[in-house]
Amino acid sequence: MILPKNNRLSEIEVAELTAIVAEFGCRIQPIVGDVRTIYAIVGDERHELMISRLEGLDYVDRVDTIQSPHKLMDIKSDLARHRVKVGGVTLGEELLVMAGLCTIDPKNPNYFYETAQAVKEAGAHALRGGVWKPRTNPYAFQGDNRSLDILMEGSRRTGLPVDTEVMDEEQLRLALDAGVHILQIGARNALNYSLLRQIGKAVAGRPTAVLLKRGMHLGTINEFISAAEYIVNFGNPNVILCPRGTQPGLDGYRNHPDESITPLLKERTWAPVVVDPSHSVGKAAYVPACALAAVAYGADGLCIEAHVSPNHGLGDDPKQAVTPKVLAELIIQAKALHALRRAAKLPDRS
Ligand code: PEP
Ligand code: MN
Repeated sequence: MILPKNNRLSEIEVAELTAIVAEFGCRIQPIVGDVRTIYAIVGDERHELMISRLEGLDYVDRVDTIQSPHKLMDIKSDLARHRVKVGGVTLGEELLVMAGLCTIDPKNPNYFYETAQAVKEAGAHALRGGVWKPRTNPYAFQGDNRSLDILMEGSRRTGLPVDTEVMDEEQLRLALDAGVHILQIGARNALNYSLLRQIGKAVAGRPTAVLLKRGMHLGTINEFISAAEYIVNFGNPNVILCPRGTQPGLDGYRNHPDESITPLLKERTWAPVVVDPSHSVGKAAYVPACALAAVAYGADGLCIEAHVSPNHGLGDDPKQAVTPKVLAELIIQAKALHALRRAAKLPDRS
């Protein structure tokens, strides 16, 4: 819909609009009001170049599109019937809990093995463990290829699927060859379109799931869903959206908790939402509250950093990993809340 700056356009202006949209297989239908005329675009209005050429005209105030730019991720797409499954859980039906270390310590693999067993006993369905880490400080521990074997051994010992972040093509290849079940795209790479494309291509035809974090600098809803579209577009629809807090952070928290974005995502897309409260708040003591808030907002799952001995951890673990004991209690509460929400059929408006 084209809204002109003045009450109506001249014939020359309408002819110009008509010529532009015709290049993209569309036509213009004026909607004449008593005072004002607006101009509908009839046809597929998802051509970005068409919209930006219309927006560039000095007599056009605004162009509103009705069709979603997310052909596959849109709630109205055929894929809306698709259900993502992880660790025996069908997302949307049962609350999924992923838990484990921020960073695997290649010199002390037992911390990962013990944590893996403990989070399984606490009720987690999948393990997380960072093999390669995106660190702000180039001198901080960056991860280690040897941790990939530890990750997979943790999976074998517990029978749980594993999640790890990949940041480049080599890590992607190593992770897939090793049999990683869930590839994580981190908040710093959420808008790295060539990585998104590489991952999309690499997981096509495989059962691998992709945990896509929200871009850390206030990634917009459109950016978030479009990033998922990049992956699904190659043929694998097992994508999970993961809000993890945005920058600038809320005073005292590591990031600005953003679990409240969940209902907005669910209105626009069918993709399951698994919230990461650990990176949102950045401090173990605040994680349970943020996790429960996420479930209250309608999250389908949680991804939580946990460690049997947080103080001996690497990366984020000393400050934000919860102990398995806290995790176990949190899972009981989160599951109860999730069941309550499902029984109440929230967020229906009726
Ligand atoms: C992580 O999961 O440890 C991590 C680095 O996540 P994010 O990309 O959300 O910062
Ligand atoms: Mn972390």
